[in-house]
Amino acid sequence: MTQPPSDTPQRPTREAAEEAVRTLIAWAGDDPSREGLIDTPARVVRAYEEYFAGYPDDPAQVLARTFSEVDGYDEMIVMTDIRFESHCEHHMAPIIGKAHVAYLPTHRVVGISKLARLVDLYAKRLQIQERMTVQIADTLNNVLQPQGVAVVIEGSHQCMTTRGVHKPGAAMVTSRMLGVFRSNVATRREFLAMIGRTGAGPLSNT
Ligand SMILES: [Zn+2]
Repeated sequence: MTQPPSDTPQRPTREAAEEAVRTLIAWAGDDPSREGLIDTPARVVRAYEEYFAGYPDDPAQVLARTFSEVDGYDEMIVMTDIRFESHCEHHMAPIIGKAHVAYLPTHRVVGISKLARLVDLYAKRLQIQERMTVQIADTLNNVLQPQGVAVVIEGSHQCMTTRGVHKPGAAMVTSRMLGVFRSNVATRREFLAMIGRTGAGPLSNT
């Protein structure tokens, strides 16, 4: 469950990373020195900085900095269809999907953009969807200490759609229900209805 620390001391240089891309181009069967590919290693390394921008920040700190104490609001807070882009840690292939995040506050609430930021910070790492689901839910639960947290993630894995078994359109659904979302059927149903999964059967990993 542990992620590499953000200040991993053995982080290679940009030049070494570009050299690794040249090796992969040659491995694919092309000539890294031909004109069309000459700038590709630099571009790929810059793209990696975006794909994996989630490592430097501690998501718990991001939430902890921003919560506010709001007594009296005791209704569910739901953010649906948070699009994310991640990469599977087995193939480094994209996982594209959406996350639905809900919590029932006790005292603490965060700005809704922070929920999207929380999803992004975990998505922009090498991931497996199951772990990402747990990380988002548990971080929210630990920092806000709400009555409950619900996270449902639907992801399309390009390691499944463009290689391997080649099953485009197949989506993986994972969920984590904590507190009242786990113990109270009506609360869970209300959440599932809000994200359009009313008729869905039992969700995995609940
Ligand atoms: Zn994969």
